[in-house]
Amino acid sequence: MNQDIKEVLFSKEMIDQRVQEIGSKITKDYQMKDLVLVGILKGGVPFLADLIRAIDLPLEYDLMAVSSYGASTKSSGTVKIMKDLDMGIEGRDVIIVEDIIDTGLTLHYLLQNIRSRRPTSLKVATMLDKPSQRKMQIQPEYNGFEIPDVFVVGYGLDYAGKYRNLPFIGILKEEIYQKK
Ligand code: 5GP
Repeated sequence: MNQDIKEVLFSKEMIDQRVQEIGSKITKDYQMKDLVLVGILKGGVPFLADLIRAIDLPLEYDLMAVSSYGASTKSSGTVKIMKDLDMGIEGRDVIIVEDIIDTGLTLHYLLQNIRSRRPTSLKVATMLDKPSQRKMQIQPEYNGFEIPDVFVVGYGLDYAGKYRNLPFIGILKEEIYQKK
């Protein structure tokens, strides 16, 4: 699998360190709060799993699934809920945990949807941010790394369902797309 990667942007060590920093920040910001992390399937799972263990507070987490790009590398702009939350979040302090914000369309929809359930507070943590591609004005409160307009895989991010289990984040070789 590693031979399909053209360039590693963020090593496992860089990711681990950044997640610890974000976890410490959340630990400071959410003292005495009723914290719920909402992980977005499937890409947000590795970040969620690492982040909850970097937060030194009582918390709960739940999962939501929204429609993704499928095997394409560009956003379709349509968002559909495939799996909803199991728990109520009214009156609670919610952080949405995402893999990446690109156009912001997915998150814009999610924020509206979750806000309508009346949490006390609602913030966003994302591992990666591509601000140059934004179609919606969204600024995550907790952000791992900013990246330019490149398509990346690893640490939860896929191409056609694969590469999510890479422990680093990198750019695929062009020939991998051309095979499709
Ligand atoms: P947005 O709605 O912000 O355009 O897109 C968010 C979703 O698009 C992410 O949750 C992710 O599934 C997918 N996405 C955006 N950019 C990339 C990328 O560079 N690599 C991969 N694998 N998925 C991406």
